[in-house]
Amino acid sequence: MLSKQDIDDRILVQEHFAHEHLPQQMGSAEIEAYKDKIRRLLIEKDACLVAHYYTDDLIQQLADETGGCVADSLEMARFGSRHSASTLIVAGVRFMGETAKILNPEKRILMPTLEATCSLDIGCPADEFAAFCDQHPDHEVVVYANTSAAVKARADWVVTSSIALQVAEHLADQGKKIIWAPDKHLGEYIRKETGVDMLLWDGSCIVHEEFKAKGILDLKQVYPDAAVLVHPESPDAVVEIADAVGSTSQLIKSAQELPNETLIVATDRGIFYKMQQAAPGKRFLEAPTGGSGAACRSCAHCPWMAMNGLDNILSALENGTDEILVDEDLMVRARRPLQRMLDFSAS
Ligand code: SF4
Repeated sequence: MLSKQDIDDRILVQEHFAHEHLPQQMGSAEIEAYKDKIRRLLIEKDACLVAHYYTDDLIQQLADETGGCVADSLEMARFGSRHSASTLIVAGVRFMGETAKILNPEKRILMPTLEATCSLDIGCPADEFAAFCDQHPDHEVVVYANTSAAVKARADWVVTSSIALQVAEHLADQGKKIIWAPDKHLGEYIRKETGVDMLLWDGSCIVHEEFKAKGILDLKQVYPDAAVLVHPESPDAVVEIADAVGSTSQLIKSAQELPNETLIVATDRGIFYKMQQAAPGKRFLEAPTGGSGAACRSCAHCPWMAMNGLDNILSALENGTDEILVDEDLMVRARRPLQRMLDFSAS
């Protein structure tokens, strides 16, 4: 039976996409024409394409071919800061563009569409979150990168899933208590792994929350030698049956290193593009979503990531549309916990 949260999430996604642009299907000649124009404009406009693992294969391919990067949100942030281009085209979701702007205020940050958001960001309004933090002043505030600039500005630390455990351990060693937001599943995973005293915000990712332990175990009956790779934004029951748990980059590494020839993957299927490159010859299976008889909301692909396309990348480059702008004061306050993460990851 659907919970109220399921229904709210489903309505949220349906309402959002009733109004928004989704990239169109293209034939191969049209794709090549778009790619040629984008390649030319990236050079002309001194721009660089930075793409997330969950974007379309064509975008990932183009980012690789043009000297940009395809990465998780931590590496996207690092790459954007290191690169000399004056314009970054961030193919992903809005908080990734905002992070790029906060870390690189002198650069122009364009996105294929500013409408690409994230259920975790939507589910953590800055004013409500600030009020929650104010009620617990003895807690260190740690927020996931999937938040607005205003939520980051209220935090002591920003973390991505690739560094969340280490930061939590570091804080636990100092005897600190933590407020964690917004993903409750990732928070629960960190709490179990580190034993740190945590208060969790009640947010979730509509993609990862769909994965079902029962469906994965059923699939394992068909492929008994398969390993199960799970992103920790998934529910606890799914994490418990995983052979490897980690961020997108860590899962790609596991795909390469595990001896299993077949891998059941519980994260957005956009990751298969890089997984196949990292572990050629292996078989990748999407972890089941929804459950029998149920309609899935995301079907293992983020609807907001899917709003990125070659057409709106070209439009952003041609017209300078969908530029990320962040209030100056907010940028200064949000940069502190973000820079803390980058410094911590480099140490
Ligand atoms: S996959 Fe989930 S966490 Fe990632 S952008 Fe989409 S909704 Fe947000």
